[in-house]
Amino acid sequence: MPKTVGVAVSNATFHFDKLYTYAVLPDQQAQVRLGSMVLVPFGRGSRPRMGVVLACDAEPESAKLKYLFDVAPASACLTPELLGLVRFLKARTFCTYYEAVKAVIPYGAQYRPALAADGVTPVLQKQLTRHTETLYRLAAPLPQKPKPTAKQLAAVALLSGGPRTQTELEARGISRAVVENLCSKGILTGEKVNKSLDLYASIPQNTEPLTLTAEQQAAYDALSPHLESGKPHTALLYGVTGSGKTIVFLKLIERCLALGRRALVLVPEISLTPQMILRLKSTFGRRVAVQHSALNHTERLLQWQMIQDGGADIVVGTRSAIFAPMEKLGLIIIDEEQEHTYRSESSPRYAAHEVARQRAGENGALLLLASATPSTETFYATQAGRCQLVRLTQRYAGQPLPSVEIVDMRAELAGGNPREISLSLEDAIRKNLEDHKQTILLLNRRGYQTLAQCEDCREVLKCPKCSVPMVYHKAGGRMLCHYCGSQIEPRPTVCPTCGGKLQYRGFGTQKAEEELEALFPEARILRMDQDTTAAKDAHEKLLAKFARHEYDIMVGTQMVAKGLDFEDVTLVGVLGIDSLLFAQGFRAYETVFSLITQVVGRSGRAKAPGHAIIQTTDPGNPVLNLAAAQDYDAFFEQEISYRKLGLYPPFCGLCVVGFTGTKEPAVARAAARFAQLLGQEAAKRPEIPLRVLGPTPGSILKINENYRYKLTVKCRNDKQFRDLLRQVLSLYEQEKLPAKATAVVDLHSDGD
Ligand code: ADP
Ligand code: ZN
Repeated sequence: MPKTVGVAVSNATFHFDKLYTYAVLPDQQAQVRLGSMVLVPFGRGSRPRMGVVLACDAEPESAKLKYLFDVAPASACLTPELLGLVRFLKARTFCTYYEAVKAVIPYGAQYRPALAADGVTPVLQKQLTRHTETLYRLAAPLPQKPKPTAKQLAAVALLSGGPRTQTELEARGISRAVVENLCSKGILTGEKVNKSLDLYASIPQNTEPLTLTAEQQAAYDALSPHLESGKPHTALLYGVTGSGKTIVFLKLIERCLALGRRALVLVPEISLTPQMILRLKSTFGRRVAVQHSALNHTERLLQWQMIQDGGADIVVGTRSAIFAPMEKLGLIIIDEEQEHTYRSESSPRYAAHEVARQRAGENGALLLLASATPSTETFYATQAGRCQLVRLTQRYAGQPLPSVEIVDMRAELAGGNPREISLSLEDAIRKNLEDHKQTILLLNRRGYQTLAQCEDCREVLKCPKCSVPMVYHKAGGRMLCHYCGSQIEPRPTVCPTCGGKLQYRGFGTQKAEEELEALFPEARILRMDQDTTAAKDAHEKLLAKFARHEYDIMVGTQMVAKGLDFEDVTLVGVLGIDSLLFAQGFRAYETVFSLITQVVGRSGRAKAPGHAIIQTTDPGNPVLNLAAAQDYDAFFEQEISYRKLGLYPPFCGLCVVGFTGTKEPAVARAAARFAQLLGQEAAKRPEIPLRVLGPTPGSILKINENYRYKLTVKCRNDKQFRDLLRQVLSLYEQEKLPAKATAVVDLHSDGD
């Protein structure tokens, strides 16, 4: 029954982020505890703000304390484990308390500030209103006169198989208007029911037992003792593409559930969640919940509540699902663990791995990282004995890894082929079409023709707000900035700098689709990129169609490269990867190696052997050649020696302090001043190893009118270093600079 509480308040800036003390009214005392969501008066006007109780019976900092406005019920309270994670994030990343709170509970809270009935008293209000939906059933036969519409017939046909919810009807293209019309005629009746928390109840269960191959069984046997032990453990499942890592996951999850514990599965992209949910749901039929950003507000919150109430045994999701409020966690799987999407790029800038390790530690759980191309850091950890290594060396169906051919696009052009699709690839696609096999083509650029360049001054048309080229999108005939969304419509024909003629060149997914249509008019072509998959569930639907072989060729960006498992795909083509080879950041090679290995691995996974063709203007490139050979071990040896030589992770920590502001000289000056302060403080603590590089302009100098500079610090990411940095940040905040630049610390950046 605390009389005072320490509250982390929303919208606090980093510099003023501390726990503020409030008094608790007697009738609130029974309800308030650590982790309670509260509404507090804040600042001069005592305006209501959201907060979370992080300390009880806090020392009052002044004699005259303000009282809490309102306290949310205990059911909305952060669990002790989530509270621990808030503290963990606050200590490890440079975020505010409330940013950490917002990361661990979706949408900040289930409660929001409102006014009580009297119109003046600030109170907390529950956000969720739509708990129910309508379930429709057939009540009378459909009369033949007047002649029923096709939609009416479809609705009745569907409902003759049993009652359906409004959502299910809408998902099958039957609009609310059709349903209401049928209700008004008495053909359908509807009743209000509680909205199903189980979004995947309709997936049928597959009763066939899982049979592991000898190699998969050996992997399972090496891992499962760590589920039984109840002690924290980290392992890497390093298995070539198509080796059946998912089957090993399923077996481990089965064991985990049998032990009365729960499992959390992370995938790197939303597009991979449906496939994983399907596998889990059809295998276990148990309660599977999902957490990712493509769910709408209500769905996400309902799923979250279901997890918190203990209603889910398995949770699947993207990075943020690592905070799923499940208890009795026995297993955490991070699939495709090398993916950069596991590192958050906004505050709190955490890596899912480190949160996972923390939770595995607290719960005595097994943390299983999995990949065909593990990150250099993770593989190094297995060599250093910090992480168990378990290998799968063979593809399940016994197929060899795909054969890979590298095509020199310079020779192609010199030989008189003006197209972006080489003659070899064209032949291979044609043959694949004749054999009724499917093809996946990767092109890492969306849009039509990439750039507009001036014939006279050679200037590339750039975004007015960002220092990046704009990209032509054929739909709408407009130029689009992929960073800030700015558009120029219609597309310009003359250079804004010198008035010369603009020449449109380059190759994006839209252009590729067009070239393919011209070459193979009979083929059914599917384009997958941000533009075609923007609609809700579009991903899922398009991939399902591809799986049913309703398309012959799928061309797309990175989203076609990873994790997908289609048995008819026997050819993969990589159309444009060169720009990634020259990208900045110390992980650039690793990223290219992984991307190529992943996409090549989509080919030949079932009965027929696979082939892949990589088109490049740099055919001698060692990274490309290692990727073509799918020789991870050789790549790792090369990469680790390069990291050691250049002093990069895992041989040090890399901390990037970014500075942004609207005036470039001010940003540059602020960065320089910060570097000076850091040098000065570091000189007092010579025992802390660090090396400061820069400041330098960001690799993209300007995004959305904001200039960017950065300071790169090679360090040992431990408490001493973080305390030093905190000290410097605080000094920096107190500086009286003429124009401030915002400083942001990222301890998981790839240095770009
Ligand atoms: P990975 O994730 O290692 O690339 P998957 O787990 O997707 O590979 O497995 C590749 C394919 O082989 C999938 O279609 C999967 O269903 C099948 N497969 C793998 N192992 C088995 C098994 N033991 N029994 C049946 N099918 C399997
Ligand atoms: Zn822009």
